Amino acid sequence: MTTTLAGTRTRTPDIISFPPAGEARSHSAPRVAPGPNGIETIPMPHTLLTAQALEKTYRKGQHKVPVLRGVEVAIRRGEFLSIIGQSGSGKSTLLHLLGLLDVPDIGEIHFEGQRIDDLSAKVRDELRNRAFGFIFQFYHLMPELTVLENVLMPMMIRDSFFKYQRNKRRYDEQAREILSKVRLDHRLKHRPTELSGGEMQRAAIARALVAKPQVLLADEPTGNLDSQTGGEIMELLLNLNQQDGLTIVMVTHDLAIARQAHRTVKLDQGRIQSQNEVVTSAG
Ligand code: ADP
Ligand code: MG
Repeated sequence: MTTTLAGTRTRTPDIISFPPAGEARSHSAPRVAPGPNGIETIPMPHTLLTAQALEKTYRKGQHKVPVLRGVEVAIRRGEFLSIIGQSGSGKSTLLHLLGLLDVPDIGEIHFEGQRIDDLSAKVRDELRNRAFGFIFQFYHLMPELTVLENVLMPMMIRDSFFKYQRNKRRYDEQAREILSKVRLDHRLKHRPTELSGGEMQRAAIARALVAKPQVLLADEPTGNLDSQTGGEIMELLLNLNQQDGLTIVMVTHDLAIARQAHRTVKLDQGRIQSQNEVVTSAG
């Protein structure tokens, strides 16, 4: 058992509350109360997304590889959380579960107070498209499409052909607006191969945000970039968090990148390790 400024706790310190973006960090801000089994919970209004007792095992041939073994994490609205851990520790797996790209074997995901991991595939797809944006280490842009077309993809996927045609002008404006925000307005007609790494990631960020998601899930977003370009991407993410209140969950193995978030937790041995929580400097 460890004692912190927030009180005495037995487990899941990763749900210690933090002030929303823009507010000064304060150790007196929202109190954490022990819940059932001594597990602390933060009041629901502050919590946007939680993982509860998540377990995920992969099979490799005959072997079972347990990856997540009881992950508990709660992400507050407006928070910028980073999750660190060694390669293979399950960071991507956790991010995919949080964003409904995959389902846990055991455990639950809750979003805005509702359980979401057990939704039908169709409802899950709709919710994912509406509520979550993803960015990845290798951008995953479509090479044959222009930057503008890549950014419009989530709308094309979401709508029927006719609905998309009807709304195309508005979507086009939305896409141009977000591309301007990530400073890519001069690259609308370029294809990904004509862009630098930093520009590709900015295009991917624009694509992730065009449908105005509530949470951005970022998987090693600077992992393929030099440190200066990675720093620029981090600056952009921090701005989106601080100015627009975008909730961000970022996984990385790079502590220097991670500690720019509000809060860092470590995934180790299939769990969020309480003793390794690192209070970081943003906000
Ligand atoms: P990280 O992102 O921290 O590097 P991952 O979540 O990608 O870790 O992977 C964790 C472990 O799960 C690794 O051992 C990886 O090989 C394994 N794994 C991930 N995805 C699959 C899959 N689809 N099938 C089988 N094993 C997988
Ligand atoms: Mg990974």
